[in-house]
Formats: sequence, C-alpha cells, structure tokens
Amino acid sequence: APALAPNFLRNIIEADLASGAHVRPGLPQVITRFPPEPNGYLHVGHAKSICVNFGLARDYQGQCNLRFDDTNPAKEEQEYVDTIMDSVKWLGFDWESKTANGEQNNLHYASDYFDQLYEMAEYLITAGYAYVDSQSAEEMAANRGNFGQAGKNSPYRDRPREESLALFRAMKAGQFKDGEHILRAKISEDAMSSPNMNLRDPAIYRIRHAHHHRTGDAWCIYPMYDYTHPISDALENITHSICTLEFQDHRPFYDWLLDTLSAGGFFARPVPHQYEFSRLNLTYIVTSKRKLRQMVEEGIVDGWDDPRMPTLVGMRRRGYTPEAIQLMAERTGVTKSDGWIDYSVLEGCLREDLDPKAPRSVAVLRPLKLIIDNFPEGESVECTAPVHPHFPERGLRTFPISRELWIEEDDFMEVPNKGYFRLYPPAGDKPGSRVRLRYGYVVECTGFDKDENGKVIAVHCTYFPDSKSGTEGSANYKVKGNMHWVSAPTAIAAEVRLYDRLFTDPQPDAGGKDFKLALNPLAKEVVQAWLEPGAENAVAEQRFQFERHGYFVADRVDSTPGKPVFNRIVTLKDSWQP
Ligand code: ATP
Ligand code: MG
Ligand code: MG
Repeated sequence: APALAPNFLRNIIEADLASGAHVRPGLPQVITRFPPEPNGYLHVGHAKSICVNFGLARDYQGQCNLRFDDTNPAKEEQEYVDTIMDSVKWLGFDWESKTANGEQNNLHYASDYFDQLYEMAEYLITAGYAYVDSQSAEEMAANRGNFGQAGKNSPYRDRPREESLALFRAMKAGQFKDGEHILRAKISEDAMSSPNMNLRDPAIYRIRHAHHHRTGDAWCIYPMYDYTHPISDALENITHSICTLEFQDHRPFYDWLLDTLSAGGFFARPVPHQYEFSRLNLTYIVTSKRKLRQMVEEGIVDGWDDPRMPTLVGMRRRGYTPEAIQLMAERTGVTKSDGWIDYSVLEGCLREDLDPKAPRSVAVLRPLKLIIDNFPEGESVECTAPVHPHFPERGLRTFPISRELWIEEDDFMEVPNKGYFRLYPPAGDKPGSRVRLRYGYVVECTGFDKDENGKVIAVHCTYFPDSKSGTEGSANYKVKGNMHWVSAPTAIAAEVRLYDRLFTDPQPDAGGKDFKLALNPLAKEVVQAWLEPGAENAVAEQRFQFERHGYFVADRVDSTPGKPVFNRIVTLKDSWQP
C-alpha cells in the first residue's frame, strides 16, 4: 500500500497505536464515527468528513460507525436516513465490517440510546451534577450573560436533588408542556461565570411533544446534542471522535461529561477524545442546509439531485465519481486552519480520475452541416479510432464517414480571426482552409450556404481521397486544424445538458451576501446534439470523454437505451470565467 501522507490526525493515531493507548479486548484500536443528523441531504462538506472518518478506519484496520444523530424529532425523517445511507455507500464506504469476530454491522442511532441517556441523566441529578430549571426561556437567556460578562445563577439551581429528580420524572411522564422545565448540567459552583459559554449550565434535556421517526411517541423529552454526542461516542467505544473546528469550545463539556460518568461507573477509561479539524470550504457553492433547501423549494434548481447541486445525490447525477471526491478529500488535507479550497481542485481530481477510465467518443454539441461535394452520394467509408489513446489494448471503435457530416458551429468562420485554423471559405485569391477531419480525411473548404436571415446553414468542402488517417498518403498533408465530426445519416440524436458552476461569485454567501444575486445563468444549457453511433446503447451512469469537449455521463434518471441523455461532468481544461 502507498505510504499515507501525514496529517495531524494520522500522527495522533500513529502515536496512540505506538503507545497502545486504546488496546481493549475484542476491539480495534481505532474506532471513528460519522454522525449525521438525518435532517437533510449530504453535501460535499459531509463527504470530507466521511472520507476522513471512514478513511482513517480503513487506513489503520479500524472501524467506522455510521451513527444517526437523531435526537431532534421535529426536523428528522426516514427519507433522510435512507439517502444518507445511499450516499455513504456510493462514496465507497461501508459501516458493515468483517473482523476476526465475524461480520459486524456498525450502524447506530442515537435514539437507540434514549434509555441509557435517561438513566445517566438521573444519575447526574442524584449526584448533584444536574438540576431541573423552571425559568422561562427569556429568563434563562437573560441570565446566561455574554462573552466577557458573567451569567447569573438560576433561582432553581440549588433546589433539592429529590425535587429535581421528581420533576425530571414528571417531565418524562408528560406532565408538562414544551418549555415549562429543562434539565441543565451543573459543572461547578461558579460555572455561570465561565468564560466558555458552553459551560454555563448547558441544557441537557428538554420537553418536546413530538413524534419521533423511530421511537414514535414513546418519549416527550429529548436529550440535547452536546449531551448525547459524547455519551453515544462512549457507548460505541469510539477512540477518536473527529469533528470540525466550531466544536472546539464544546470539548470541555465533552470531557467533563465523560469524566463524570466514568467516575460514576458508567464507562471504562480511556474514554473517547474529541479532535477538531477545519471544515471543507469549497468556492462557488453554498452548503448551508437552509439555503440548499431554499433553492429546491423556490425552483432555482430541479430538486436535491439537480446536477448543479453540491449534494452527493446531485454530484452523483452530474457524473462526479466517488474516487474523484475521495481524491479531493485526501488532497485538501486535514488541518486546523480555516481556508477556502478552489472548486478547480475538485475539477482537477475529476479529470485525473476520468482521463484513464473514460472511453473516447465524439459528440457534436452545436451542429452545422458539412457537405463533401466530391464524396459519392449514398456511399460511406469506415473509419477507426482508439477507444482510448493511451490504452491500445482497449481496442478500436469504428464509424462511417459519408458525404454529409455534422460539425461544430464554431469550427467554421465566414471571416476567420487571426490564428483561426479551422474551416473558412476562399476569399479573393486565397483558397479556403484545409483541415483534417479527425480519423477521416483532409478537406478543403469551398464555400457555404446561408438562409434568408443570413445564418450559415451548411459548409461545403472537397476531400482528398488519398489523405485518410492511418494510410501512407496521409503524411503528405500537413494541416493545422483538426476537427471532430459525425456522419449525418448514422448520427445519434441526444439531449445533452451542459452544466457549469451554479454561482459566479467564489463565496456566494460570505458575509451575509444574498447568494441568489450570484446565480450563474449559464449553469445549465440544454442542447440537441449528434453523437457517434453506439452512444445510443449507453447505460445509466456510463461515462465518456467526448473528444475536445470534456467528460460526460448518461443521466441516471432520464437516459434510457435508445434515447440517451448526457450531462457534462467537467470540461477538458480549466477554462472557468465568471
Ligand atoms: P446542520 O448542523 O446545519 O444541520 P451539519 O452540516 O452540521 O448541518 P450534520 O449532519 O450535523 O450536519 O453533519 C454531520 C457531520 O459532517 C458532522 O460531524 C459535521 O462536522 C460534518 N461536516 C459538515 N459539514 C462539513 C464540512 N464542510 N467539512 C467537514 N465536515 C463537515
Ligand atoms: Mg446538524
Ligand atoms: Mg451539525
């Protein structure tokens, strides 16, 4: 296996392996987890976290759990659980692992721990580490204080433990309305003046009369994220709990809670430890779930899996490969400093992954008729081209050339610019240009036809029968232009969707900007193209390089054999211009 590029997480894990910090009977020494909340679709930022967590487990023969952090019943749905599982698998990872002890399913739900979470909360109350607060939400907010300003103790902070316990049980029994009481941690006597706001008696249980997608109506109190997360980690024997930098201020509570519960006999040491890395910020996209939802609901895009979306379902439909996303995650590294990664890094990874894989084919996206006037009508000649120019063992493809072809509109200019080497007509005593029709013949432009509006509708040329590619005679023709084409009678009609970046601003929502002002009107263009024969057989998600254009995929929803629909994944070169 290739050596792993070092990063601070790998360094920590390697040091822990060397010191045997997590040697426990029957358990791997590295157990990580990816803990999505099932309240939306995964996006490229989550992909980074998946690649980091599952990747470390893979690299160090460990285990990575998929854990649904489903403690907020109001926003969570089974639909999201299903799409998250699909996306993780599609990215190339699996929560089912084969270990010495046999197969293991490392799929978990925080809601499976509701009984244990509740039991531990009762313990915290009994031990004097938690109390039921009966202030209103407004009073609580006001007494919380601010940065640089100490908070005030709740008048309920010192209520007898038995009273808190009785109230907590009554909360659970459904005797109160939402918001009437809340369970708060009491970390220390002076916690309300802690400089870390997260330590000022954080809420750990609240009342929510809401139906939960897995536990139904069994509960009307739900544990808070900051309480649930460390306990779930400990229950799953997580060794390295990896999250993004904004959770740095939550780590003291994480540590306090697990320390307190270990002392109470709930967990064996060592308990899990939290490590933070900087989140992935990619330019030219937004990843806020709220904004992504807004784009779907307002019809700015055609659903969560619109190929312009940075969701994993969208990227999949666009034709992005799991391998390219994994490569991007690796290449962008794991650090503690926040920064922006240019979208072109992801596009570079796509080209790198697709170039060796994608068979070549020809597509004419903006067709213009080319007529070879001296080519016998009704006849055709077979041309051959490599399936892949760097892998001759993949064989050859064949397609006919005939009198009428389709070429790209911009491969002809009535009045050529300086340095234009493709087709242009004779002018004065200057002959028309000579170009090679790739894999076919050299032709010389002789003229063109216009319709009544002055639009060029056909280009005329003559060909040199001894110039065919691959024959001896072809060497006698030196031309500067080399164009792709498809033979008109046998070309396959197809809808091709030309996708580009959804925004023209590299940071469309930075600093409170309205991202809708930066929408790229050219992010989707639909053309009726002509494709090389054979393309009609493309199966969903089959990828090609259309020569000179870029990489394309048969749309997994709309493409059917016989009626292909292609999406542009990425162009051949980085030619982005806002
Ligand atoms: P929200 O909190 O707005 O609902 P979220 O992006 O935090 O959204 P979660 O489902 O809680 O959604 O995220 C699951 C995991 O993915 C978390 O561990 C989170 O830190 C990680 N994650 C989310 N966005 C990124 C990102 N841009 N880069 C790296 N990791 C990310
Ligand atoms: Mg969340
Ligand atoms: Mg989150």
